[in-house]
Amino acid sequence: MPQSMDMTVDIGEGALDRFSAWCAARPVTGTIRIVADLRTWEALGSEADAALRRRGLAASRTIIAGEHPVAGGEAVLRLLADSRDNESLLVAAGSGTITDIVRFVASRIGKDFVSLPSAPCVDAYASSASALILGGAKATIPAAHPAAVFADTRILAAAPAAMIAAGFGDMLCKLSALADWRLGALLWDEPFDEAVAQRSERAARCAIEAVDSIGAKEAGGIEVLMGALVESGLCMAAAGHSRPASGAEHHFSHFWEAERLRAGQAPILHGLKVAIGTIMAAGLWERVARLSRDQAATLLAGQGPTDEATGIAQIRALFPSSADEVIATQAGFLSLGAAGWAGLTGDIIDNWERIQAIAAGVPGVPAVRDLLARSGCPVDAREIGLGEADLSRAMAGAHWQRDRFTVAKLAGALFGSR
Ligand SMILES: [Zn+2]
Repeated sequence: MPQSMDMTVDIGEGALDRFSAWCAARPVTGTIRIVADLRTWEALGSEADAALRRRGLAASRTIIAGEHPVAGGEAVLRLLADSRDNESLLVAAGSGTITDIVRFVASRIGKDFVSLPSAPCVDAYASSASALILGGAKATIPAAHPAAVFADTRILAAAPAAMIAAGFGDMLCKLSALADWRLGALLWDEPFDEAVAQRSERAARCAIEAVDSIGAKEAGGIEVLMGALVESGLCMAAAGHSRPASGAEHHFSHFWEAERLRAGQAPILHGLKVAIGTIMAAGLWERVARLSRDQAATLLAGQGPTDEATGIAQIRALFPSSADEVIATQAGFLSLGAAGWAGLTGDIIDNWERIQAIAAGVPGVPAVRDLLARSGCPVDAREIGLGEADLSRAMAGAHWQRDRFTVAKLAGALFGSR
């Protein structure tokens, strides 16, 4: 069984049984609480419960209510209210939402938790941060990584096709996310780790090679996809930030997620939004890749730094519930000024060959669309409920969300789409 950091990772047929054996072998005494939603209790939690009972272990349960459970105050309170002092282990039997709730509560009450993924839909299982809804907006809150991840491929392969496709979307995106990370290191002095970047790229390429098997929901492909998603989470943990797994495509996705949350609209699976964002990011990289150094220099000479007041007004309009926070993280870009702009554009021109080499590592739009379609992932934004206006607002403003120099920032400098 592979060990990563101090985490046990077991992906494969029969992992649920090995989960119960792992629990039985734990030196710590105390009972176990399984946390699920109604759907994941049916698909997974009840089986985990039965596996524990076969080994003579008692388990209590918390079922998070609702058709679309939310990782927010109500669910956190539910779990805290149910928890008992004599429990030594929490078990998250579900996808990202259930895992985020359990991860947060377990870290705050000082207990270990185990992740039992119900679907290979997201790369956050092995992560140590919880994405929670706080004050009507999504917040990433430091918590704890699981003591173990047991992902049974029989359960994962039975997950809805859209969730499997979403997981593929959350892996394919790594190629443009990594290009953004390299760009940020080159032009904005962002922290970079070559070894982690290569691990993340290898994980993405493994998933890409298995795309047809993933699209067919074959056990082999599902195992590769889940392994890649867990590896991506471990890359983020190793780097200490999300750059190995998240670039402009994730900023587009986070932007739509926040807008829909404010409007009270039903959520869209993370990986499906990321997939559409990946097509958009690939389009921006294609535009960059077509330019010669001279053409880039000419375009940059026709642009200038974002006027601070204009940038702040744009942020206030696009991020009404988190504007002050966004403005604070964007201080470096908002106060760039003429001297900063001259330095930045000089760096872009001086490094044009390296930028071209980075762009060459990103699959083009047709390749991205083809791979997504083969995994079963929608490639038309309208299929997941996003319209033209959503795409253009994200294209213009999503880059403000994070203090990172992605292809969206570079395209803004070159083409003025800020
Ligand atoms: Zn993601």
